[in-house]
Amino acid sequence: MLDKPSGSVELHREIVPAKGRWSRRLEAGQSLTLIDLEGQQAVDFLCYAAELPLDRLNLPNTVKLNRSLYVTKGSKLYSDRARVLMSVTEDSCGFHDTLAGCCSCEIDQVRYGVQKTESCRTNFIAELSGWGLGPSEIVSNINFFMRVVFKEDGELFISDSVSKPGDRVTLKAETAVIAVLSNCPQEHNPAAGFQPTPIEVVVTAEA
Ligand SMILES: [Zn+2]
Repeated sequence: MLDKPSGSVELHREIVPAKGRWSRRLEAGQSLTLIDLEGQQAVDFLCYAAELPLDRLNLPNTVKLNRSLYVTKGSKLYSDRARVLMSVTEDSCGFHDTLAGCCSCEIDQVRYGVQKTESCRTNFIAELSGWGLGPSEIVSNINFFMRVVFKEDGELFISDSVSKPGDRVTLKAETAVIAVLSNCPQEHNPAAGFQPTPIEVVVTAEA
């Protein structure tokens, strides 16, 4: 099939609806492909070592060891203990954010003056509960398909995404991990193009 890496077998394929959430344990060597079906849809992403969830995605370690503020093909996702949890093996988009974190009902009250019941943080809380993990396990996340621009003087803002319909990124588990995502429900900034849309997730194993 077109949507899976060559030389691999498909284990799972699922549409995550607009504003939805998803998680799965991936064994070492399995790959997760995220497909931005309609374009400009931020996917907030966390991952945890399956055997020791307290060893989890650490973005300062990831930025320092990749020597880049962006995640893209060739980047590795490092844990608190500087272990490689996952690596990015394919990326048709080119820019994925490490800086802006996830939206929450609380920050949207502060920055937009709106009262909401849905956010990436509420999605993360709900999804992590299924793994016995609580809100305190939410750490800084990667925002796939989200464009955050930063300037030399430090100015930073969420910009229009460069992600096109069908853009995809593939992450290979380098150890057993729990991958958790929120299909960002944000409607008040360009993270989801002001109109959240579905994504597709595909899990594959090497043949
Ligand atoms: Zn969000």
